[in-house]
Amino acid sequence: MTHTTAKTVLISGASIAGPALAYWLHEYGFTPTVVERAPELRTGGYKVDIRGTAIEVCRRMGILDEIRTNSTDMDGGSYVDEAGRTIGEMPAEIFGGRVEGDDEIMRGELARIMYERTRDDVEYLFGDSIATLAEDADGVEVTFESGLRRRFDLVVGADGMHSHTRRLVFGDERQFKRHLGAYISIFTAPNHLGLERWETYHASPGRLTCVYSSAGETDAKNMFVFASPELSYDHRDVATQKRMLADASAGGRWEIPRLMRHAADADDFYFDSIALVEMDRWSKGRVVLLGDAAHCASPASGQGTGLALLGAYTLAGELAAAGGDHRVAFEAYERVMRPGVERNQKMAEGFVKELTVDRKWKIALRMFMVRTLPKTPWKNLIAKKIRDEIQAAARAVPVTEYGTLAHAA
Ligand SMILES: Cc1cc2nc3c(=O)[nH]c(=O)nc-3n(C[C@H](O)[C@H](O)[C@H](O)COP(=O)(O)OP(=O)(O)OC[C@H]3O[C@@H](n4cnc5c(N)ncnc54)[C@H](O)[C@@H]3O)c2cc1C
Repeated sequence: MTHTTAKTVLISGASIAGPALAYWLHEYGFTPTVVERAPELRTGGYKVDIRGTAIEVCRRMGILDEIRTNSTDMDGGSYVDEAGRTIGEMPAEIFGGRVEGDDEIMRGELARIMYERTRDDVEYLFGDSIATLAEDADGVEVTFESGLRRRFDLVVGADGMHSHTRRLVFGDERQFKRHLGAYISIFTAPNHLGLERWETYHASPGRLTCVYSSAGETDAKNMFVFASPELSYDHRDVATQKRMLADASAGGRWEIPRLMRHAADADDFYFDSIALVEMDRWSKGRVVLLGDAAHCASPASGQGTGLALLGAYTLAGELAAAGGDHRVAFEAYERVMRPGVERNQKMAEGFVKELTVDRKWKIALRMFMVRTLPKTPWKNLIAKKIRDEIQAAARAVPVTEYGTLAHAA
C-alpha cells in the first residue's frame, strides 16, 4: 500500500457519497474539502436501504452499529382501499425493515451520521458552490460562488442526479439523464393515521401513495409516485414542484386531499424524476463523478445509497493504491463499479413499472394477491425469489481489499 500525503481533493456535495469519500480519503492520508450548496446539512428524505456489500463498507467505516441503532425497525405494511379499509398486510420479513441482509435507515439520519463521523477531520464549506473550474497540468483552479479562490489536485462531483460539477465539465444533463416515466415526491406531515413502525399504501391507476412512521418518529413520511412523461421545470423551483404534485394527485381519494394540504406547507419537500444517469465515462482529466452524479439508479432500485457508499470506498481505495495517480485510479474505479451499477440500473427499470400500475384491473389483481398471498403455503418461496434477486444485485459491486489500514470494527 502506498500512502499519499498532501493530495488535496475538492468534493462537491455533502449528502451520502461526498462525506463517505471524505472519510476514506482522510483515512488514506489525502486532504479532502467538501463544499455543499445548502447552508447546512440536508436532513430530509425517505428511508433508504443498505444491503449486500455496502453493509461491509459501513462496518469498515465504523458506523454500522450506529446505523442499526437508528434503524427504521419497520414492523410491516398494508394496502388500503379508497376508504382506508385494509386490503391485506405484509409482514416486515417479506417487505420492509426486517428483511435479512438489509439495513434500513432514514436518509437524513445516515447523512447526519456520516457528517458527524468526518466533521472533525474534514473541511466543510456550507452555503457555497463551485463557480468555475480551470484545469492545468498539475491541478485545478477553482472559484466559488462566494468569490473564494482555491487550488486542488482533484475535484469530485458528488452533487447528485442534477450534478452541477457534471454540467460544468461534461455538459447538459439531458445527454445523460433517462426519465423512467414517473415522478416521486416525499415530505413530512403530522401522523394522522397514528402509524407506529408501519407503512400504508394506496394504489390507483398510475399513482401510488405511501404513508409511514418509523421507529422513534412522531411525524409521518409521505411518498407519492405518479406516472408521467418528462415534465419541464426548474429543479430548484419548489413552488412549481408542489403545484405539479397537486395536479397529479387531483381527484385522489383516501388521505390524499389532506396530504396535499400538508404538502403545500412542507419545508422538507422532495420532488424528482425517477430517472437513470448513464454515462460512457465518469471522469475527465482531474475531475471525477461519484454516486448519483455518475450513475443514479433511481429510488426504484433501492440501491442508490449503497452504490454511493461503495463508490466512495472504491474511488478512495484506488487513489491510495495508485499513489495518487488519478489516471490509473479513475480507470480502476470505473472498472470495479460499472458492472454492478449497470445491473442495479437494469433492475430499477423493471421495478418502476410496478410502482405505477396503469390499469384498474391490474390493480385489482395486485390487491387480490396482497390479500391472498400471506395465507398461501408458497408465500415464503415468492418472497425468497424477490429477495434473492435484490440481494444478488446488492452484492454485484465487490468490496476490494486496499491494504491493511485500520478498519474500525
Ligand atoms: C434532501 C434529499 C432527500 C432525498 N430523499 C431520498 C429518498 O427519500 N429516497 C431516495 O431513494 N433517495 C433520496 N435522495 C437521494 C439519495 O440520497 C441518493 O440517491 C443516494 O443516497 C446517493 O447520494 P449522493 O450523495 O450521490 O447524491 P444526493 O443524495 O442527491 O446528494 C447530492 C448533494 O449535493 C448537493 N449539491 C447539489 N448541487 C450542489 C452544488 N452546486 N454545490 C454543492 N453541493 C451541491 C445537494 O444539496 C446534496 O446534498 C435524497 C437526496 C436529498 C439531497
